[in-house]
Amino acid sequence: MKTLITNAYVLDMLGDTANIEKKDILIHDHIIEKIDYNMIELVDEKINAKNMLIMPGLVNTHTHLAMSIFRGYKTDRKLMDWLENAIYPVEDQLEPEDIYWNSYLSCLEMIKSGTTTCNDMYFGMNKTIEAIKDIGLRAIVAWNIKDDAIKDKVEKTREYATIYNEDKNSKIKIYVSADAPHTCSPYTFGLCVDLAKELKTGLHIHLAETLEEEEIVQNTYKKTSTEYLNDLHVFDVPVVLAHGIYVSDNDIQILKHITGGISHNPISNCKLSSGICNVAKLRENGIVVGLGSDGIGSTSTMDMFEEMKTAAYLQKVNTMQPGIISAYEILKMATIEGARVLGLDKEIGTLEPGKKADMIFIKMDKIHLCPENDICANIVYSANGADVDTVMIDGKMIMQNRKMIYVNEKEIMRHVKKIVKRLL
Ligand SMILES: [Zn+2]
Repeated sequence: MKTLITNAYVLDMLGDTANIEKKDILIHDHIIEKIDYNMIELVDEKINAKNMLIMPGLVNTHTHLAMSIFRGYKTDRKLMDWLENAIYPVEDQLEPEDIYWNSYLSCLEMIKSGTTTCNDMYFGMNKTIEAIKDIGLRAIVAWNIKDDAIKDKVEKTREYATIYNEDKNSKIKIYVSADAPHTCSPYTFGLCVDLAKELKTGLHIHLAETLEEEEIVQNTYKKTSTEYLNDLHVFDVPVVLAHGIYVSDNDIQILKHITGGISHNPISNCKLSSGICNVAKLRENGIVVGLGSDGIGSTSTMDMFEEMKTAAYLQKVNTMQPGIISAYEILKMATIEGARVLGLDKEIGTLEPGKKADMIFIKMDKIHLCPENDICANIVYSANGADVDTVMIDGKMIMQNRKMIYVNEKEIMRHVKKIVKRLL
């Protein structure tokens, strides 16, 4: 199947500065075959993308998809209070079918706001995988392992990694997830590292999210979270480290050598008053930083445009330097650098021949995007998820003119409302 997209302005996210040109894109099955001016090709389908900006699909590097039922639920609390007194008691009652519909709602919101890849960790992931597959998203998925009930999660991780990680065309990949330094003992981390090595995959971990956690690790092991992980050889395998707020200069020296990177979750960090990640300093030290939303409970939205905006503002105010990070660099964090954090940068994150055809069409002829003095600044500071008109993943149209092609949006919302009525 060959598709030719014409008349679009293409932001390819290659290079150190924004490159936006009116070009055509030729897609052959799942792959971008060619991007060029005024192409004449014999194709199965032609798409006229007039007034659209086409860019790589957004990459959300840290999610808990099944937490969508917690949108707006018992907010205005610190992380530990919120988890222990609001979230955990409900999570204990979640049935597999609940995980499916809750995950589906998050997936739907992501696609409707331009995210084409996410990196998810939670429990009951077999049902989350079903939702991801039904909607057509690209995702890395991991069973969140803590010190309890390890055996079942290890078996599930191994079983699903065997199914998905060996299939080169699969949009789903399985990672191992160790929850966090303060919830995982050295034994658990050792087991997770061995499992990741055995399965030739990466590790997804919460790192240095709050001061309280840092104090627990410091009191228990007399070291920072990063030092704790380093001493356990966790960084021998690729890692996605969610948050990374409380890192010392010595920690930064350690993190310089990791494969993978940090997932910065600006809205979640603001909402839970966790702190401000010094993204500028991490990037100055060559550490790759992508953007993430965290679960809907702590973020309230899966819209990565909101994350981009908040990330930019936080760095400006944190450093008191308005030019500390440009709009284009923020866009890189939401695309190619996010892909790099997930080890997927050879497949996605830019628009170029040979890469998977994951792209979003942003409708540009809108009042809040006019005039176009700086298109990247408009996307980061003025656009929102609802400006995403069309979404293609792996060469397949998932949403067109804001209509989901294969999904009944109302049915998903109906199911989630029913779950909320039962549990909350
Ligand atoms: Zn999280």
